Amino acid sequence: MDPEIEIYLNDNADKGQRQRVGASVKWNSDPVKTSNSKTYYKEVTLKLGLWNEKVVPGQYLLISPEDEHRSVPHYPCRILSLFTMTLRRKVKNMAHVQFLARGENTILGMTSDPREWFLLEECEEVILEYVLRILDIEYLPVEDFAKWRKSGGTKAAIMKEDAGGKDRWWRLLYQPEFGRFPFPDKDTININVPGECYLCDKRIKEQEDREEIVGEDGKSVRIQGSWYYVGQLLMITDSTIRFKIPAKVPKSYPKAEVDTKMYPEHWRKPTAYESDHVDTWQPFQIERLEQVVKTRSEFFI
Ligand SMILES: [Zn+2]
Repeated sequence: MDPEIEIYLNDNADKGQRQRVGASVKWNSDPVKTSNSKTYYKEVTLKLGLWNEKVVPGQYLLISPEDEHRSVPHYPCRILSLFTMTLRRKVKNMAHVQFLARGENTILGMTSDPREWFLLEECEEVILEYVLRILDIEYLPVEDFAKWRKSGGTKAAIMKEDAGGKDRWWRLLYQPEFGRFPFPDKDTININVPGECYLCDKRIKEQEDREEIVGEDGKSVRIQGSWYYVGQLLMITDSTIRFKIPAKVPKSYPKAEVDTKMYPEHWRKPTAYESDHVDTWQPFQIERLEQVVKTRSEFFI
């Protein structure tokens, strides 16, 4: 593709929808590589209003959501790679991005520093025309951990007014499902070669790990990411194997019938008294893994 050609996708891509105020996109260098029908670039020029701005992976963007509505906040993100791909015979200008969270959207809520951003472990492909603004965010790592730990809760812990870029700074990741703020590792901080995303790789690996496979020797099996070997004892859910001695059925004691005139409060009693452990989970069965049997489509242990 001629790098000088400007592509405007806004013209009739969203017919019938409200015209989006977004960026126009211009690729001003030769592609770096092509893989999986995606052509990757080192940089892109985005025209936002009157301004032309060069953008490279590692920079931060503010993206308008697909369903543009005033109440939906715009998404801040970090660019991991820039590329074009053909979708329904149209060339789309895209970026693979990692999202950020505002402090107020974390568990910290309004107690957070409004200038601090947190990197999320989520990535997505976004259309570059949806970019609203280029954010000026800086990564400010903790330099001296001992000093940083000591200053917690004091005035010294508060970042300087002018710290970071115009849109301030980030230093921690945020994991919403655990409410944790881990320190980023090298994979997170560095921007990979175009087309590679450590978050996508991680996701694919997790999926692969979950697949059940039988070991080459036929004596081991991987279930939910853990390996089990012949001779090992396993805990499996009750009722998998029937025992000769049947399990006891918990007893229940129905409410006695009484004269309601004599005992007017009797209706308060439950209809039946259950014995202990009626809601308790059944204990696991403990079995020894004897053999892994494999057929064409399934395998048994
Ligand atoms: Zn990714």
